[in-house]
Amino acid sequence: MAGKVYCKWCGSSYSSISGLTNGSCSKSSTKRHEVFEGEEQSKYFCEYCGSSYSSISSLTNGSCSKSPTKRHQPYAGSIKVKYVCKHCGNSYSSISSLTSGSCSKSPTKRHQPAR
Ligand SMILES: [Zn+2]
Ligand SMILES: [Zn+2]
Ligand SMILES: [Zn+2]
Repeated sequence: MAGKVYCKWCGSSYSSISGLTNGSCSKSSTKRHEVFEGEEQSKYFCEYCGSSYSSISSLTNGSCSKSPTKRHQPYAGSIKVKYVCKHCGNSYSSISSLTSGSCSKSPTKRHQPAR
């Protein structure tokens, strides 16, 4: 794995996971940075509403009406032709169309994209 590691709550980047986990994070509920497990991409999508941003830090700066934390959270999967709900298996052509539907099998009552 090359390159940088990013915090999934605030988008701060570090050259190593230990550097990231040693820092404190103002946007995380645990006050610690947590590793974003996705790959470095040209665009990042919110996994709750599908909004796209060019960086994780700009994504996490915005507020999200569909997220339980009220902030956008970066989707850790890769950009796909189809996105499948991890709770019910329905597929959609975009994260925004997936997250706009309701899901009877999801704990949040909304579809959530599988990686
Ligand atoms: Zn952070
Ligand atoms: Zn969002
Ligand atoms: Zn679903």
